[in-house]
Formats: sequence, C-alpha cells, structure tokens
Amino acid sequence: MRLSQRIASSRPLATTAMHGRVETLRSEGVPVIDFSIAISHFPAPRAVLDAVAAAIEHERTMPYTSVVGALDVRARLADKLRLENGIEASTDEIIVTNGAKQGLYEALYVMSDPGDSVLVFKPHWPAYVATAQLLGLRPILADLPDDITPALLEPLGKPAIVIINNPHNPTGKVYTRRELEYLRAWVERIGARVIVDESYEHLIFEGGHTSLAALCDWRNVGVVTLFSASQSYAMMGWRVGFALAPAAVVGAMQTLQGPITAAAPHLSQVAASVAYATGAPHAMVADYRARRDLAVALFAQVPWIVMHAPPSGPYLWGDVRSLTLDTVGFAEALLEEKRVAVMPGEALGVPGFIRLGYISDDEATLRAGIRRIIEFGDAFAAREAADER
Ligand code: PMP
Repeated sequence: MRLSQRIASSRPLATTAMHGRVETLRSEGVPVIDFSIAISHFPAPRAVLDAVAAAIEHERTMPYTSVVGALDVRARLADKLRLENGIEASTDEIIVTNGAKQGLYEALYVMSDPGDSVLVFKPHWPAYVATAQLLGLRPILADLPDDITPALLEPLGKPAIVIINNPHNPTGKVYTRRELEYLRAWVERIGARVIVDESYEHLIFEGGHTSLAALCDWRNVGVVTLFSASQSYAMMGWRVGFALAPAAVVGAMQTLQGPITAAAPHLSQVAASVAYATGAPHAMVADYRARRDLAVALFAQVPWIVMHAPPSGPYLWGDVRSLTLDTVGFAEALLEEKRVAVMPGEALGVPGFIRLGYISDDEATLRAGIRRIIEFGDAFAAREAADER
C-alpha cells in the first residue's frame, strides 16, 4: 500500500513507541518495569469521578458540544485562568482539546506555514519536534540554559515561533518571573509568536508557577498557552486539555479541529472542568516529592550518574555521559538484560542522558527498577574499564 510522502518520512513518537514496546512485552508475559513515560499511579480526583458518574446517571444523552467545548466548561476554565494564573480571558479565547498534543498541533498549524522556523529548547519533549516536522516546519534546537538571560537569547536569531515548556520536561526547570520577562521582551522585539506549554504547572516542588501570558499583552504578542489535565490531575487517558489563545487563533484552531475530532469527548470536558476547580493536587505532589527524594537518594552514591533532584515534574534526568554517549544503546541493553525501560536522551535531543518517569509504580517497584539500573550501569562501567586496559 502506497503511503503519502508527507507521512513516509515521519516516525512514531519515541515516547509512545517505547511505551508500546513495553505493553507488547508485558502481554507476552515479560515483567518490565516501565520508567519510559510518566503515568501516574493516582486515579483522577474523587470529585471528577463523582461528577462523571452523575453525568452518566442524570444526563444520559451525551451530545456533540460545540467544537471549542461546551460553553459552561469554558466558563469554568476561564475562572481557573483568573484564579490560578492571573489571566483574564473570555470564553471565545479558550478551546478544549484532546490533550495538550492536539492543542500543540493545532496551534502550530494555524500560526505557521511550511518552512517557518520553530525554536525549541533541548532537551525537549519529543512531541514538539515531531509535530513541527509533521507540519513541514523547520525546528531550531537550542540548549536550554540554567538561567535565561538577554545575552543567551540574542544569538538565537528570529524564529517565527518559540516554544516554551514551563515547567520543563525533562529537567524540571521552573522559569522565574525574571526569565519570562526577558523572554517576553525578546519575542516582542523580534516579532516571534509563542506557544507556552504549562502542562506541569501543578507539579512544582520548589519555586512557584508564573504564566507568561500573565506578564504580557498576550493577545497582541501572540501567545498561545497549553494546559492539560493529564499530568496536573493524573488524567492521562481522559485525553483532555485546553488552549488559551487570541480569539482569531481559537477560531482557526476550531476550523482545523472540527473535521478531525470535533469537540473533545463530552465526559472528558466535564471531567476537566471539575478537575481544574479542585485546585492544586497537594496530596499527589507530596507523594511525588517523596518518590523523587527516594530515587535521588538511591542514585546519590553511584559514580557514573549525576542525578539532580528536579524542582518540578514526574521525571528524573540522569547524566550518564561519563559512561556513554550512546544512550539509545544503553536503553536497549537495559531493556534487554534487566527489563527496565527508560527514555534515551537522543529522543529528547541530548545524547548521554536518560529520563526516568518515577510516578507510575509502588515504592517497591521503584526501588527494584533503580536497583536494576544501578546493577546494569555498574557492569557497563566495569566492562568499559576492562576494555580500556
Ligand atoms: N506537555 C508535555 C511537555 C508533556 O510531557 C506532556 C505529557 N507527556 C503533556 C504536555 C501532556 O500531553 P497530553 O495532554 O496530550 O496528554
């Protein structure tokens, strides 16, 4: 069967591909510990489950809503933006999407044309580059600095679109207000539009979340902000998020979304509006913090890995450059020999690092998985040392 040239040069997302492999191995009875992505071991908040059960019981009919999402749902999301993010927005500046991924695709689609440049800081969430490539855009990858300053932004040229991930997957970096001010001044000066992905806004251990849109005239600058219930409320499979964008951009995203998926599922829209009304997920963040601290402590004495405690997010980003730059090979052998799946840094634009999602399993499994990684890395280091002799 002939496939289009458009898709023939594209590959499945590295993250979902690895997760798919794990599922296949497990279905064959191979017990794999999966750190390759971050799927929460928490259920959705109780209020969400109750609201969805009540909707099924009392409403029964689940109509198509308008493509941008039901009006009452968008009104509640506007409340969330005002209360949590300090952003005033009207309902026609909000579109409910099937997760942040759909919001990202649509925002990039309607704000750019093939050949336009998109700046992405690396390490990066694989979907940014994959989506840009699907749309025929030109991704420009720049190293994400610890601290963003005007001097670092200056040499980055004049990309048409800048993608910011705040808080950042995989490093956990939480942008400070000052860094966001520098970014705002820079994009205004060069005339770039911005997509800010704030999917991890609620998973912050140290520091506080600031939305870029709260610091600028986002309608005129051209800022699209993406939100997702996936990580904020452990609702990955509900496939729901939303975008805040100037009304003309929301209108264009609606034109694109209509023929593809129409609205996000009605029940997921109800679920999202209730989830966001529950505010910060304190218990979940406390649990993640304890796991993060445990995992970092387990790696602390290991000589071949540098593992900092991330200030946010469900990932650890381990520097194994002293061991190897071929982290694809490292991850393959680790999966083969120890049945532990991790994401190699290559998939996120930076070889020599491995990413571990640490929120999926019980504590015993987390410990067992880390023990196996350490055993594997120790043997790897011993082999390297023997080869050098
Ligand atoms: N943005 C980033 C940077 C992510 O890592 C994730 C979760 N993997 C998401 C968004 C969530 O995407 P979605 O809402 O499509 O599940």
